[in-house]
Amino acid sequence: TTAVVWFRRDLRVRDQPTFLAAKERADRALALFVLDPTLLEPAGPRRTAFLFRCLRALDEDLGGKLLVVKGDPEDVVPRIAQAVGADSVHVAADFGPYGRQRDEAVEKALGSTGDGVELVRSGSPYLTEPGTITKSDGDPYKVFTPFSREWTKRIQDAEPADTDAKTLTWMDPSDKDGGPRAVKVPDDPKVDAELPEAGEQAAHEQWEAFVDEHLTDYDDTRDRPDKPGTSRMSVHLKYGTVHPRTLLAGARGNGKGATSYRNELCFRDFYGHVLWWFPRSARENFDPKFEKIELDTGKAAEQKFRQWQEGRTGFPAIDAAMRQLQGEAWMHNRMRMAVASFLVKDLHLPWWWGAKHFMELLVDGDLASNQHGWQWAAGTGTDAAPYFRVFNPVTQGERFDPQGDYVRRWVPELADVEGKKVHQPWKLPDPPSGYPEPMVDHKAERVEALNRFNAL
Ligand code: FAD
Repeated sequence: TTAVVWFRRDLRVRDQPTFLAAKERADRALALFVLDPTLLEPAGPRRTAFLFRCLRALDEDLGGKLLVVKGDPEDVVPRIAQAVGADSVHVAADFGPYGRQRDEAVEKALGSTGDGVELVRSGSPYLTEPGTITKSDGDPYKVFTPFSREWTKRIQDAEPADTDAKTLTWMDPSDKDGGPRAVKVPDDPKVDAELPEAGEQAAHEQWEAFVDEHLTDYDDTRDRPDKPGTSRMSVHLKYGTVHPRTLLAGARGNGKGATSYRNELCFRDFYGHVLWWFPRSARENFDPKFEKIELDTGKAAEQKFRQWQEGRTGFPAIDAAMRQLQGEAWMHNRMRMAVASFLVKDLHLPWWWGAKHFMELLVDGDLASNQHGWQWAAGTGTDAAPYFRVFNPVTQGERFDPQGDYVRRWVPELADVEGKKVHQPWKLPDPPSGYPEPMVDHKAERVEALNRFNAL
């Protein structure tokens, strides 16, 4: 018998529960990836290029046996199952709003093929499947800390699945009898950023280097955008070139660094849960009371938004971060919080404008983490920063980029300003030309933001 292993956000061969489930049912497997226009269109060139690179790497790991087809999964997956005579299709469950609905549709379509093919879900992109951690009365957690206590108990026994490319005997896709046409992984779209290395091997190398060099001190350095102190695993978790189980296995123990790292993995699961329970929170204020807050829109607001996007706000740390996003398709977490706070509390713009811009440019752009990260900063989400906590764009820079190296790296106009003075160029006797004045008076806008919140 044949099983289909349908890869989606799990573009790897190690730690793959789907392989074990397929092995129980069948003596050979077809490896499948579907280029789904509904997902590809909003992904933008950066994530699309990264995805294509991961697919080429996966195909190589599978000895050239990955079948790639184009189309709506509801249509193509059942036709492929029929073409290879499969009685099961194996996936890691998806929990985003679109993924859930797509899988239900595919499951139904498979069930109504002649022999009734089963969609078998094994595992998910998370350590704990969204929806499975609840309060004792069955209600979802809306606050992180109690969620994390429960989560910590659940992950005690999580271990990577012992798999590799040889776990299954892969069928040659050209042996399939009819069905949708195989396509090549398309050429990468043109990308104007330096993307990280794609694929499972790159994920493992990056992870091992992080564990060797930075994990022990992670708790101290994770807030420093001027240092390479974070794991850069977000993009690999997004595409599943590594599973968080593998990261957890490397970050066990009571050390401060490992404990703090697990806490971040927990945040990722938490937002996966929140999105599962409250899919509307991807688009609307989690707390509906904020629907009424006064926001700036219109021409002047759009002009301010562009200055923010281009990294020309006149606040060096904010501008460095926005340019890092353009240049690297990634931004340090501390700076994601700072630029989000700036957009919402200094410019009074809708958080979803910023969230959309992030989703267009981030190579790790992920609906659950991004939308809820934004809502956290805006003060409208679960467990949000209290609305009266307004980040100061200058002191954020001075605290977390104390020598100014991060700013000098990303803002060439300020490259000759030495030390922490770079965070307030307007105070220099001779401010460098070509760098803008601060676009707002932070003190005044902070008061304005608080007034708008208080008016609710
Ligand atoms: P590390 O510090 O090494 O953390 C390890 C892993 O923990 C990360 O890879 C990530 O999976 C998880 N993690 C860490 N912090 C968070 C967090 N605050 N929320 C959820 N998971 C977290 N993360 C994304 O993966 N995609 C996004 O689109 C995204 N958008 C964000 C938008 C805003 C406004 C904010 C404040 C945060 C956002 N984050 C997002 C979370 C976080 O900034 C990134 O996961 C992190 O910067 C990725 O770098 P890293 O892998 O080196 O992180």
